[in-house]
Amino acid sequence: MRRIIHCLLIGACIVLEAREDKEPVIEAGLAQLDITPEEPIFLAGYAARRKPSEGVDIPLKAQALALRSGNQRFVFVALDNCEVSRRFMEPVLKKLAATHGLPRGSVMVVSSHTHSAPVLADTLEVMAIMPAKDKEVIRRYSKRLQSQLAEVVSLALKDLSPAQLKHGVGEATFAMNRRIYRPEGIRFGENPDGPVDWDVPVLSILSTQGELRGILFGYACHGTSVSGNGFFQVSGDYMAYARASLENVYPGAMAIFMTGMGADQNPSPRGDIMDAKRHGVELAGAVIEVLNKPMRSVEGRLAHTYKEMDLHLEAAPDRPQLEKDAKSDDIYVRRRAEQFLAILNQGGAMPLSIPLPMSIVRIGTDLTFMNLAGEVVVDYAIRLKRQYADDHPWCIGYAYEVPCYIPNVRILKEGGYEAESSLIYYGLYGPFRTSIESNILTQVKGLMQTLETPSDALP
Ligand SMILES: [Zn+2]
Repeated sequence: MRRIIHCLLIGACIVLEAREDKEPVIEAGLAQLDITPEEPIFLAGYAARRKPSEGVDIPLKAQALALRSGNQRFVFVALDNCEVSRRFMEPVLKKLAATHGLPRGSVMVVSSHTHSAPVLADTLEVMAIMPAKDKEVIRRYSKRLQSQLAEVVSLALKDLSPAQLKHGVGEATFAMNRRIYRPEGIRFGENPDGPVDWDVPVLSILSTQGELRGILFGYACHGTSVSGNGFFQVSGDYMAYARASLENVYPGAMAIFMTGMGADQNPSPRGDIMDAKRHGVELAGAVIEVLNKPMRSVEGRLAHTYKEMDLHLEAAPDRPQLEKDAKSDDIYVRRRAEQFLAILNQGGAMPLSIPLPMSIVRIGTDLTFMNLAGEVVVDYAIRLKRQYADDHPWCIGYAYEVPCYIPNVRILKEGGYEAESSLIYYGLYGPFRTSIESNILTQVKGLMQTLETPSDALP
């Protein structure tokens, strides 16, 4: 009886303890490696650059945040590069599956999309025009980066320890819609009336004693503060400057940038390295403002689900069209056509679709990462955040790999770079069918439903 009274008196504590028993402790692990190239190397992103890099503006990094609860593990990898292809990532993912048993989808490399980092092997090949000796430099750097990506994941897994997570959202306003409407069609420029996503999502990673270990933050904007003209230094652009500012303010904490869905957004103003610095400071300021206010606790079980869907292309060109393109004045149109003629000559066929990786990562019901491969236009972030507002969504683009731009139906109907001409550099013939947007949203809905049944509820 005395025991029962005692239990009644401390009933509230018992309920709390029971909740702690049920909710597994989240563990977090952090690691980073310097991936700055050691020799002059061609930089990816701007086709007009026709010589290798000259010096380093700010070092490049590969960083990893591993999360674990129960038997679930997920690793975010932030990479200072324009992008990675499926072929580039294949050996890294195979190695991680073999050494750590990490299944496909549980390691997500998110490229920062800086346009001042090295060209990578098997990536954006139509764009990569350079002498053979520079191709060899690319091959060497790519091999080193592949082993560093696997290593940084291993190091983050080794660093796993119980953590507290907190979430908040700030705002930075330098992202500008870059699609302007002209009588002759869509052109690049500054469109202050176009859609933007100015959210700055922040996840702070603290030890159980409350010490700040890491800051994950995001923004939906191209890594193109440096517009390329005459700039040949290696740089992580505004994203690297934001990280550096944060790490100055919070010594000992690792700042990690997660690229949002801002493929049709450019920083404003843009031009030279001073613009990268100013945007970096603005973004870091937005993150600090979030960290200085009370943040929401993120608790509960880690769950994630991954899938690859097919994005269908309109009918492929026939051989006479390819042969005509192979004589084009535009070297990129020519290179794309030559690639496909070689495939046809070997008995292959034109692709009718491309695979698009996507995943959802949830922590309890407190935070939902919605991740899409490719250069995803901002309309997707806006739609997903509205549709899943109750789930505290955090939208990430350039996730896993970048097969091409991912336009929505509006952009496909309007045309322009993100709908059409960018496909030349990605070595694809399009455009995508206008069903692309509804198909992606249907797949996201399916993934969300998969996660609504927690695995621990099953017998
Ligand atoms: Zn881009």
